Amino acid sequence: MYNSYLKYSEWSIVEEDFKKENHMSSESIFSLGNGIFGQRGNFEEDYSGDKLDGNYIGGIFYPDKTKVGWWKVGYPSYFAKTVNCPSWIRISITIDGEILDLNKVKKINSFKRELNMKKGLLRRDFEVELNNGKIVEVKSERFISLKINEIGFLKYSVRCLNSDCNIVVRSFIDDKVFNIDSNWNEKFLKTDEILQNNDSTFIKSKVLKTDFKICSFSKTRMILDEEDIPFDYHRETNHVLKYNIKKNQSLTIEKIGGYISNFTCKTDIYKKSKQIINKCSEIGYEKLLEYQKKLWGDIWEKSDIEISGDLMSQQGIRFNIFQLNQTYMGQNPDLNVGPKGFTGEKYGGGTYWDTEAYCFPFYLATKNTEIAKNLLIYRYNQLDKAILNAEKLGLNHGAALYPMVTVDGEECHNEWEITFEEIHRNISIVMAIKKYTDYTSDYSYMTNMGIEILVGISRFWAQRVSFSEKHNKYVILGVTGPNEYENNVNNNWYTNYGASWCLSYTLENLKRLKESNLSKYESFGFNENELDLWEKIVNKIYLPYSKKHKLYMQDDGFEDKELVHVDEIPKNERPLNQNWSWDKILRSPYIKQADVIQGIYYFENDFSYEFIEKHFRFYEKYTVHESSLSASIHSVIASHIDQVEKSYEYFLRSSRLDLDDYNKEVEQGLHITSMAGSWIAIVEGFGGLKIDKKNIIINPKIPKHWNRLKFNIFYKNQILKFDITNESIIVSGKDSSKNIINNLSDKKLKYV
Ligand code: BGC
Repeated sequence: MYNSYLKYSEWSIVEEDFKKENHMSSESIFSLGNGIFGQRGNFEEDYSGDKLDGNYIGGIFYPDKTKVGWWKVGYPSYFAKTVNCPSWIRISITIDGEILDLNKVKKINSFKRELNMKKGLLRRDFEVELNNGKIVEVKSERFISLKINEIGFLKYSVRCLNSDCNIVVRSFIDDKVFNIDSNWNEKFLKTDEILQNNDSTFIKSKVLKTDFKICSFSKTRMILDEEDIPFDYHRETNHVLKYNIKKNQSLTIEKIGGYISNFTCKTDIYKKSKQIINKCSEIGYEKLLEYQKKLWGDIWEKSDIEISGDLMSQQGIRFNIFQLNQTYMGQNPDLNVGPKGFTGEKYGGGTYWDTEAYCFPFYLATKNTEIAKNLLIYRYNQLDKAILNAEKLGLNHGAALYPMVTVDGEECHNEWEITFEEIHRNISIVMAIKKYTDYTSDYSYMTNMGIEILVGISRFWAQRVSFSEKHNKYVILGVTGPNEYENNVNNNWYTNYGASWCLSYTLENLKRLKESNLSKYESFGFNENELDLWEKIVNKIYLPYSKKHKLYMQDDGFEDKELVHVDEIPKNERPLNQNWSWDKILRSPYIKQADVIQGIYYFENDFSYEFIEKHFRFYEKYTVHESSLSASIHSVIASHIDQVEKSYEYFLRSSRLDLDDYNKEVEQGLHITSMAGSWIAIVEGFGGLKIDKKNIIINPKIPKHWNRLKFNIFYKNQILKFDITNESIIVSGKDSSKNIINNLSDKKLKYV
């Protein structure tokens, strides 16, 4: 199963031996980013084989006109897609008339690519023999700066090893790149103007329809024997040098590049680009690289996880933490976490429920409070649009339905069974607000913003339920749960349970608000009986139960299905979504991803060990894990019911999903949001860490072959370090942490 062509290493991802068939996968794996922009691991030099040049800036999107077979009233007019921007890294090298292109060279003598996650640095060294007999060595390295968020920096050295040669270097910005996922083959970006001087190029472009303005820029320096040499000429977006280099003489190309856009810069973007380039040239490559190491060091100090005795897991989790940081650093509340981050185009770069359900706990526990808070502010800023969204569906009185996918608050998803029915996404937003409030004890977000979201969402649930005479209970009809392999079902257990919880949590917080801030409370203008109705729904929500199985059912129809276990499906029919008709999938009991189990994860304190164990045992048999989000939540629950080996299998599947390419699709981009699930699997699963209003509860159960598990969290302005072995838990932090850690395990707890 683990047929990765990548080498195991604690801090690095290493590829040796270049194979064309792996190239696009590697482009995804070796992606770089800094939360503001990111790029796939494309080669700097020409490559004529299959590739996807990808450079994406957070928040910059094109509204791609909706494409559906059968239009339904309420469908959104567009799908927001993050724009693929001009590629500033490009360098074309010609040696004695032959273009250096790894797809065409006569022989590759050696090749090594390494992503150093400790430093945030990508390196590549190779030696090739060209068809003209020249043996060429290239050493390149590049990084996307954490210090100056608008730029990346690269250094690329070429040597001819067997003779003198004539070299032509063309350093350029490629503005011919385009989004491969365009619905109507439209171009998203238009170049308005190209400006150049002796060493720099600036491309001013605009995103069509949205009018975002981007200035893509680069500045190149050519160095031979420590001396700068000037270009022969510059034209269009190119700077060109023709030179005779001696055998073994190394020509180094240093290039700064990046983007300034009007998404973040409110002044002249061209002027700002020039300023940034000058500033970065003054600081220089080496100094910026020093900053890069230092800033990545700070990130690891708060978020590293160390696993002794299992290199595969160690590499997997560090890769996940690294990529999550490359995708989102919380610089700005208009940014969010797309399922593929900056590593590919699937999902358009939009925000899904993945953010609150999976990513939020990671950012909350590994960064300063403000960072996770920005994710919540993002949703607050989009509350008005969520209210409009619910109005479009016929609801009123401030009911809010957050979009299934969005960039700026506008719903983008366009399949009715998801857009209109996968309404459980509202639950995760409330859950994230609760997690933030409990973790930080900071009520300011709740009072100033969160409570408005809670009320909007509660108003949604209060109108979305209906009263069933038959059950004498409130039911929720026509929904899709997290399991997208069943649509338009009635009474999805997870949705019903979560809806009722949202109402009860809102009521609890309104009570607090009424005492602390009466005018804000009154500003909601509650109708007479409105809150009574919420209370009634909480007490009378219908939850489908099977007397036969003595279990809660995923939804009303689940029990009637032909309950054949997953292991009985022939291997060649998996994955189901690529082999079965949709109709067959819908009628089957097979579950795409954690659904009842997702609910158990969220509301675990409400259930007994036996309840959890019974439901897990039942639903696992029908779950096909065809969403990347599934394995991690199963891993958490499996460890909580002492099935640690099973939990470990799920953890590996989640943390190494991309490195081992389980789904054979990593070439499309990485599964960024599911990576956060791997962190949850370690910290909340194996680590057994739970944080409630006052306490940190710890109850670790680690896989037998792990000698030690160490993880850090950032909690109330201190780094708490947990060091867990089979016998003990050692915690280091401020003295005050002693009073709040509640150890439920039989391991000895020590403080240092
Ligand atoms: C999953 C959704 C998820 C989306 C983006 C889908 O395959 O079923 O739950 O939000 O991918 O990650």
